[in-house]
Amino acid sequence: MTTNLLDFDLDGLAAFCERLGEKRFRATQLFRWIHQRGAHDFSQMTDLAKALREKLAGTAHVQPLRVVSRHDSADGTVKWLFDVGAGDVIETVFIPEADRGTLCISSQAGCAVGCRFCSTGHQGFSRNLTTAEIIAQLWFAEHFLRQHLGKSERVISNVVMMGMGEPLQNYAQLVPALRVMLDDHAYGLSRRRVTVSTSGVVPMMDRLGQDCPVALAVSLHAPVDVLRDNLVPLNRKYRIAELLQACARYQAFAPRDFITFEYCMLDGVNDQSEHALQLVALMREHQSAGLSCKFNLIPFNPFPASGLKRSPMPQVLAFARILMDAGLVTTVRKTRGDDIDAACGQLAGDVQDRTGVEQRIASQRQSMLGGVKVVSVAGTTR
Ligand code: SAH
Ligand code: SF4
Repeated sequence: MTTNLLDFDLDGLAAFCERLGEKRFRATQLFRWIHQRGAHDFSQMTDLAKALREKLAGTAHVQPLRVVSRHDSADGTVKWLFDVGAGDVIETVFIPEADRGTLCISSQAGCAVGCRFCSTGHQGFSRNLTTAEIIAQLWFAEHFLRQHLGKSERVISNVVMMGMGEPLQNYAQLVPALRVMLDDHAYGLSRRRVTVSTSGVVPMMDRLGQDCPVALAVSLHAPVDVLRDNLVPLNRKYRIAELLQACARYQAFAPRDFITFEYCMLDGVNDQSEHALQLVALMREHQSAGLSCKFNLIPFNPFPASGLKRSPMPQVLAFARILMDAGLVTTVRKTRGDDIDAACGQLAGDVQDRTGVEQRIASQRQSMLGGVKVVSVAGTTR
């Protein structure tokens, strides 16, 4: 077994190179070849000594993820399904906008939190992704898109950890991946352009603030504990007050940043004006303790097993109006990639239904082989 170099941040790669008897600047060169130029074949790396290239070939490799399929939405959104083995499939979504290109990355196969409105949550937890599997999504997408779009410079300007999984329940693997995203010798993304989204794993929010204070999004979804307990089961462990105190502490590590609160709009469940007023009161209480925040209202993307419905747009706008009138910065998320099931909470096929996944993988492989663009995942529940 040789070592997968995608598993390393620059310090990790330097330590690996040191074990091969190589200086740190060699690790930096290698890191740049891999992440900035998308190289995976050591023989391409012509400014490395031949002896080193041979040493690397015997001890290391750069392991891409296996692409199951690519889906191109009419709005430019691109979704990839990657096979991570044992029937587990993860998703990565690229969302182009006029002034940025955002990549939405998965952190786990499945998720253990089990939110009621999330199809990943309904599938249950399969396993944590490795650092290599997390960063390979960016590595692949960036270099694929550059080639596909005929660009020589960076295509992906922002990363959001909003794919499958709860990133802060895979902390040890997440942090080196974040460091690669931020490293000037790799993707060079600024701290504010990398967002970790969490359902509220309080102790790990504190650690992230200390280790790697990137932008933080917190999936709030309810203004009071009784309701949040029901929507986000992790709330039974970390209550809203405790969560918001952790947000305020986080801001000490990320001065001048806002915490983004995500709020999935569920018809008749959490979208009434009383909920908006409760949110306003809650935020007033915590703003005085140093919290600065903005709200992102997400129209729910329905799936049958949830038994929930999307709030009608007038309801979403009325809710937003109450927050804005109280001085809270509020946006409504535009749903992207709807036609290819790439919208929030609609990610990847049924992880539990292994047989179904395998069948789908087989049929998708065939359609790719036939050169046909797959526009929807055959056999999903939607
Ligand atoms: N586990 C992390 C990140 C992944 S989910 C978290 O929960 O924050 C990313 C975002 O998508 C979260 O805000 C989540 O609440 C939202 N989401 C999940 N399912 C959704 C659905 N069906 N419709 C709309 N948003 C959804
Ligand atoms: Fe997990 Fe996030 Fe889905 Fe909740 S919303 S089940 S935390 S992926």
